[in-house]
Amino acid sequence: MANKGDGTLAWLKERNRERVIGALREQGRTSQADIARVTGLSRTTVSKLVAELKVSGLVGELEVSSTDPRGVHGGRPAVQLTLRDTSKAVVGIDFGHSHVQVAVANLAHNVLAERIRYLNVNHQATEALDASVEMVDEVLAQVGFGRDCIIGAGIGIPGPVDRVRGTAGSASILPGWVGLRIGVEMERRLGLPVEIENDANLGALAELTWGAGRDCSTFAYLKAATGIGAGIVIDGKVLRGASGTAGEIGHTTLDEGGALCYCGNRGCLETVASGPAIVGLVGTSNGESLLLADVIDRAAGGDVRCRRALSDAGREIGVAVAGLCNLINPERVVVGGLLSRAGELVLGPIRESIQRYAVHAAAECVQVVPAVFVERAELLGAVALALRTSNPAFAARAAGSQE
Ligand SMILES: [Zn+2]
Repeated sequence: MANKGDGTLAWLKERNRERVIGALREQGRTSQADIARVTGLSRTTVSKLVAELKVSGLVGELEVSSTDPRGVHGGRPAVQLTLRDTSKAVVGIDFGHSHVQVAVANLAHNVLAERIRYLNVNHQATEALDASVEMVDEVLAQVGFGRDCIIGAGIGIPGPVDRVRGTAGSASILPGWVGLRIGVEMERRLGLPVEIENDANLGALAELTWGAGRDCSTFAYLKAATGIGAGIVIDGKVLRGASGTAGEIGHTTLDEGGALCYCGNRGCLETVASGPAIVGLVGTSNGESLLLADVIDRAAGGDVRCRRALSDAGREIGVAVAGLCNLINPERVVVGGLLSRAGELVLGPIRESIQRYAVHAAAECVQVVPAVFVERAELLGAVALALRTSNPAFAARAAGSQE
């Protein structure tokens, strides 16, 4: 809706200033040249606005070592800028299958406090939502912030998100969450604007913002653990698809007559390469059932059966990823989730399958690398989501409305 003053020079300048601050909030640390690139503003405009923001104390410079590739352009270190506004913050909430994690971070991208609580999230949805709100208040108290300092919350759930209805998109993955309007429920409990995203997309956002995808515009992040999902980033944005289920690579059919998958199809990638499939293949050891982490540890220790189970899983994942490479031609495939802890034992076979099954031009240019974040990928992704989507004006409005 048009506001009074739209189109005037002062209004235009304020809008440009907001775009520069938005770019800094999204990137954490960045150069003037990059701000010009992502906002589409001229370098002169960015330079003037940054100078004013520095004088006001809202923006500061960071020391960058000349060996840091992110800060060097043509051999000369570029000045990296960051927001200095420490009065506002965002909240990230990650619902795993059996835990809730919460973090608070300021707009300069520093995580100030975080905590974790274990509970049966799958079956106790309302309890999990209530617990997360208690934990938000705990971390805020710890860092001395009121809710009125928070400009928004990012929330992750371990399954597809139906963005139209604001609910969990699959009853088979999160049985206790059927029909629950997570966004509405959390906005009511927190009194904050919230954004919801699935775990693989959040992993992709964390890698895009701070990790192995930071210098990439098109890449695929793979979360390989209990399930297998992909977060697809195209031109710097996470691809959601028509109803939010883009990236469900774990249910790519590899064998039409294969084992029955919980999704109702047969021979999905998850039936041969997910954590439970790998554990099932290795079987018990001296009557003791193993976890995926045990299989990875044993493989590192030289256990030939565990090594074979992991490399076979990598090969199968690579078949599905080769198809993805043909479709989106990524610069990089970032492998995250617990399976990435197996390192080259899994990454090597993924590369071999891509070389074998993807078209030559796509296979030739793609790098397969481990993710930077594993255990905290979703939590940091939820923080990144809040930093990207929150409107700083919210805290000011919320504070004003309480008067
Ligand atoms: Zn399936």
